[in-house]
Amino acid sequence: MINNELILAKYGEMALKGLNRSTFEDVLMKNLCRRLRTFGAFRLTKAQSTIYIEPKSDDVDLDEVLDQLKCVFGIASLCRACICEKTMDDIYAKSVPYLEEALACAKTFKVEAKRADKAFPLKSPEISAELGGVLLEAYPHLSVDVRNPDVTVTVEIRDTNAFVHGANIKGAGGLPVGTSGKALLLLSGGIDSPVAGYRMARRGVHISAIHYVSPPYTSDRAQEKVEQLCQELTPYCGSIAFFCVPFTEIQEAIKTHCPEEYFTVIMRRMMMEIAQKITEKDGCLALITGESVGQVASQTMQAIACTDAVSRIPVFRPLIGMDKTEIVETARAIGTFETSTLPYEDCCTVFTPKHPKVRPLLAEIERAQSRFDFTHMIEKAVENTSMQIFQWNGSND
Ligand code: ATP
Ligand code: MG
Repeated sequence: MINNELILAKYGEMALKGLNRSTFEDVLMKNLCRRLRTFGAFRLTKAQSTIYIEPKSDDVDLDEVLDQLKCVFGIASLCRACICEKTMDDIYAKSVPYLEEALACAKTFKVEAKRADKAFPLKSPEISAELGGVLLEAYPHLSVDVRNPDVTVTVEIRDTNAFVHGANIKGAGGLPVGTSGKALLLLSGGIDSPVAGYRMARRGVHISAIHYVSPPYTSDRAQEKVEQLCQELTPYCGSIAFFCVPFTEIQEAIKTHCPEEYFTVIMRRMMMEIAQKITEKDGCLALITGESVGQVASQTMQAIACTDAVSRIPVFRPLIGMDKTEIVETARAIGTFETSTLPYEDCCTVFTPKHPKVRPLLAEIERAQSRFDFTHMIEKAVENTSMQIFQWNGSND
């Protein structure tokens, strides 16, 4: 072993899986390998609900690696840890220098021992007390506080080795992307839909994205903004196939042929129709939108029912019960908020009716829509849809 240090990545919800657990583990390992490739060579092994990530050379910046792995779904917590032999002498000898940085600024600490290997001669409380004593001697400025310590030192006695580490950092949680199938996200340039994509990716769903543009009413900048959002989602979602649909002709036809008060709901139904045709080509099993009940006129229960009526596959709306403030909080945390609030117009805003019908009935909508046969235009829009792939850091997954 070249390095004396590795990263421990501990499972979240996956640890509760039964017989199919190894399927989840395999996907997580693959996702990690892809993410790690740009940082150097690593050896990955799994045992006891943990993935051990050992760099094969000593020039790897483990903090940078940790920072990336924080976004990988399926991992509940991460830490850098020192690899020790399973003897107290080696644990003492390595812990003291290893923990120097972590303990330098602390006033109080405690040691927590986890003894997975029950054959280890000392019990957990004894390991904690012994190592605590050695650390106190080496760092006399410290005192022990078991309730509220500045630093918790953890010693884990596992099958092959003992590991010593300071603080854990929080992982992204959820399930590994790719374990729950693929779905198509209706991605606007707004705040909500990127958060909706993030939420579903966190449940293990591999995301493709679809965006509708209406040139010349919408600009290239508006489309580029959505492409940027796609790129910003890749640290969480992995690679994203991005479909861009020319929507001008359909929007103009709705405006010309249908009553203005129904414009938005009919437009949503067109979006759904087109999205479903793309799912058939792209192998997606569901659609995802950023809708939240009551947020705008097209998101009342009645309007949603009218939109849903054209969908033959499930439509997931992970933000349906969330307040705007909660959605904004997530958008800030995942880093999409700033791009989402760039001031470029969306195709929805271009033809927004002054007085949309807030509680439309399906029969009314169907009657209004039947004034024009959109079939041909929908097919044409699908035919002229472009596709590009966004990848995290250019990695080829
Ligand atoms: P967002 O912040 O996601 O734009 P919003 O609150 O502005 O949401 P709407 O504009 O009513 O809400 O859009 C509702 C949902 O419809 C969006 O969350 C998105 O999933 C989808 N959508 C709207 N416009 C587009 C578009 N131009 N391309 C793709 N999907 C869209
Ligand atoms: Mg919007």
